[in-house]
Amino acid sequence: MRIDLHCHSTASDGTDTPAELVRNAAAAGLDVVALTDHDTTRGYAEAIAALPAGLTLVTGAELSCRLDGVSMHMLAYLFDPEEPALFAERELVRDDRVPRAQGMVAKLQELGVPITWEQVARIAGDGSVGRPHVATALVELGVVPTVNDAFTGDWLADGARAYVPKHETDPFEALRLIKGAGGVAVFAHPAASKRGRTVPESAIAELAAAGLDGIEVDHMDHEPATRARLRGLAAELGLLGTGSSDYHGSRKTCVLGEYTTDPEVYGEITRRATGAFPVPGTGGA
Ligand code: AMP
Ligand code: ZN
Ligand code: FE
Ligand code: FE
Repeated sequence: MRIDLHCHSTASDGTDTPAELVRNAAAAGLDVVALTDHDTTRGYAEAIAALPAGLTLVTGAELSCRLDGVSMHMLAYLFDPEEPALFAERELVRDDRVPRAQGMVAKLQELGVPITWEQVARIAGDGSVGRPHVATALVELGVVPTVNDAFTGDWLADGARAYVPKHETDPFEALRLIKGAGGVAVFAHPAASKRGRTVPESAIAELAAAGLDGIEVDHMDHEPATRARLRGLAAELGLLGTGSSDYHGSRKTCVLGEYTTDPEVYGEITRRATGAFPVPGTGGA
């Protein structure tokens, strides 16, 4: 069983449409794939309609959170997408991404970059707009060679010249909302230090005490030593440890199934969830 529990589509900042994502997941030999777009569930219907036989879809989302000034991401799995409290918070965060991206465009214009909101809006399409879309515009304009090169102190990294913060949920509130919608909560790439500041282990312990189910251990932004430390921390705190690609199509270098989750851990996630069931593929549209 090959299980990849963290993937993005054009419903946020991935480059595969939800239908392409599930087809590519099947072609990559995955048995289970999770759709975890930033702050939205809008990709679900298309992914389910296209889901190939033999592939199971885990519905989810990656919720933007902030603890003591540090941005962090909370993966939520198999919650009820219509539960009103979580829905309202998700929409609030997603909607706030628009004025925030417009603010980053304005800052870039002040820095002399000939970027426009129309360009970023075209790149983002229907997706929750984020820094990777702005970064793609910078690549189109020849300002930086790759999306990754836009995430520096010169441009879009946390606190950089053109960075603008967005509304982000307190993670303890996020846990309450996810649980209230029957979901399972996994702290995404908790030690991805190259993206900026990360939360201390003491905070992970507090989140565990508040109902966090697991932490993402195997992830491209964690060095081998970091993974070993996180595996130990998960065992110590009684947390599940997952692995996943954080696939973004061509916007990131990782490939589907680059890291995977143990079938027993996956089984435990499905047993804990009460908001939704994994969706078995029936052949696709
Ligand atoms: P946002 O949610 O708009 O603040 O943007 C966060 C997104 O930017 C995440 O999906 C990350 O995958 C991406 N990101 C963050 N840091 C980097 C980086 N150093 N290189 C490439 N992408 C990054
Ligand atoms: Zn992303
Ligand atoms: Fe993330
Ligand atoms: Fe992600």
